[in-house]
Order: sequence, then structure tokens, then C-alpha cells
Amino acid sequence: MRYMDKGTTFFLVYAALAAVATALCLWLLWTVMRPGLAYYLPAMAVNLVFGLLVWGFLLPFPLLLLLVFTSWKQPAPVRRTVMQYIRFLYPMMRHLAGTKQRKHVLARSYIQFLNGLVLKQNLHIPAERILVLAPHCLQWDQCPHKITRRVDNCRQCGHCTIGSLLDLSRRSGAHLAVASGGTQARQLVCALRPKAIVAIACERDLISGMEDVLPLPVLGLLNERPYGPCFNTHVDVSALCRFLERLTGENYERTRNSFSQFTHYMQR
Ligand code: SF4
Repeated sequence: MRYMDKGTTFFLVYAALAAVATALCLWLLWTVMRPGLAYYLPAMAVNLVFGLLVWGFLLPFPLLLLLVFTSWKQPAPVRRTVMQYIRFLYPMMRHLAGTKQRKHVLARSYIQFLNGLVLKQNLHIPAERILVLAPHCLQWDQCPHKITRRVDNCRQCGHCTIGSLLDLSRRSGAHLAVASGGTQARQLVCALRPKAIVAIACERDLISGMEDVLPLPVLGLLNERPYGPCFNTHVDVSALCRFLERLTGENYERTRNSFSQFTHYMQR
């Protein structure tokens, strides 16, 4: 697979471990509860329910590998099933990761993995049907302009990345929205009904947002937090441009070269 990288490998290893661990837990539960349940329910029904649960955690895994390693164009229901499967496994994966550091790596690899699945589809979506969803924390904290309702209020003064995002959105035709939180982000998605989203956020918000809007294709782009979380964050606009190029099939190279005029932010 072209997008198989270290992050995806890491994610798949943990997904396999989580699937086996969950199936083992269910099997143990079954062996413990079976004698007691046999008093109230037919043994066959108990075996069937636990059997389905155990295999339910094991069988979708090969499907997941098929999606990752082959060029199979996944039908929407299959993709949805695999995504839901991963969603179920993720808490167990986090549990297995143990340390904070490894959980952090796992979250990043999850985003990478989800991005890979979207990129693999070779979508060609008109730019005007793409929503670039940016968090409010990208805005310079002392900016007097209100951009969450109307991003065009940005004067592109160069103090933060919003100016560059606005420039890219105008040149590409993609819709740019700045959300002050998860609720507003969901409202924007409902109102604008995009065909694809490029979301900018931290690991936690990206994962919950990407899971929430399934099966809509979402590419996640992590923001950089040089001043700590939720404060004057940055984003790699060239990476965003590349994502838009992949989604639209267009080339915004000229646009990419023009970022410098709007990216001398944070030189206060
Ligand atoms: S680029 Fe300037 S005007 Fe635009 S949001 Fe940032 S600080 Fe405000």
C-alpha cells in the first residue's frame, strides 16, 4: 500500500492486539458465566451469543487488512463497518498502549491511518464541496476581528495562519470555516453539507470529530502548539494545500508559493 507508513503499521499492530485481547476477555467471561447462565438460558443460546461476540471482534480484522493492503475500492457499507469496528477497538488499544507517550503516538497513528484510507480512494471532489474546518485557537489571541461567524473579517495581517488559510480557500474555492468548539463544528457540517472535510485540530478533537462524521471522508491535519494547547496554535498550510490537491485532483502550486506573504505570524 502506497500510504503504509510507520504510523499505520503501529496502528495495525495495536488494532490486532486489541482485537485478540477483547476476544480473549469475552472468552474468559463466557467460561466463567456459562455454568450460571445455563440455569436460566439454553446452553446453545449462551454459546451462540458469546461465539458471535468473540468472532465479531476477530473476523473484521482481515477485512481491515484488505482495505489497507489492497487497491480494493471499498463499498461504503464495508468502509462504514470497518470504521465502526476500529471505533470499538480504539478504547482497548489506548488501554494496551499504557503510557501517556505511547497513547499520544497511537492517536497520531490513528489519524494517519484514517487519512490513508481516505487518500486511497483517489477522490475527485469539486473544491467548493470541500470544507476546511479550522479551530479558533489558530487565531492570534489579540486579534480584534471576529472570524468565527465570518472568516472574511480576517484582514490577513500576517499575525496568524488564518490569513494564509483564507488565501488558500479563496484561490482554491474550498470553503473555510473557523469553529470555536465541537458543537459549532458539527453545526457547520450539518449546514454546509460538504462532500469532504479537511479538519485542523489537536489529536483528541480530530479523532472524535473524524469518528462523528463517518462515513464522510475527512482528512485530519494536526495543529502545532508552540505556546501550549488551545492558544495561538499554527498549522502547516502547505500540508493543507497538498490535502486539497489530493481531494480535488487540482494543482495549487502557485498558491503554495504565495503563502510566505501571509505567514510571518507570531513575530511580535
Ligand atoms: S491574520 Fe490578522 S486579522 Fe486575520 S485572524 Fe489573524 S490576526 Fe486576525
